[in-house]
Amino acid sequence: MAKVCLDPGHAGGDIDPGAVNAKTGLQEAAVNLAVASQVKKYLEAVGYEVLMTRTKAEQAETDSLAYRCELANHWGAEVVVSIHCNSAASGKANGTEIYTTLGETAGDQLATCIINQVTDTFPDIKLRADWDDGDPDKEENFYVLRYTDAPAVLLEMAFISNSAEAKKLADSNWQKEMSRAIARGISDYYAELSS
Ligand SMILES: [Zn+2]
Repeated sequence: MAKVCLDPGHAGGDIDPGAVNAKTGLQEAAVNLAVASQVKKYLEAVGYEVLMTRTKAEQAETDSLAYRCELANHWGAEVVVSIHCNSAASGKANGTEIYTTLGETAGDQLATCIINQVTDTFPDIKLRADWDDGDPDKEENFYVLRYTDAPAVLLEMAFISNSAEAKKLADSNWQKEMSRAIARGISDYYAELSS
């Protein structure tokens, strides 16, 4: 059975809310968990086994990225998808982006599958891509990407610091659409593996 690890970024609550929208107080950690929980539902409905690295609104041990990676590795995750919201000093920054580790890795294929579904689902969203190496993912040695054994990607869904995008991130219908896109991207990846 396919084993997918979902990693809702940040420990949540007072420990680490992630990025916070200055006007509305919307916390990234809460959005990440809401979306990841729905991705889990969609994947389980079609027979995937899913592990979440964080399941509570505030969960102290998840403040350690090493804890999250060990959890995924011990469980034998086949793919790891870390879910985040972006933030920038300028309220104008907007769009979606996905990260893998440096160089050509198995994560690149997973990243392409997910970002294709995200941009298909939200045709108006700006894709912040790095096409230098022929695929849309950006590359950065983020801890959760580097220390997980399985192909891993980190999705920055949209900018919580941008008021228009923060409104979407807070919207349950938008969250549902985003969750579906991520789940479809993951199943596209498995379909490509088996074809
Ligand atoms: Zn984050």
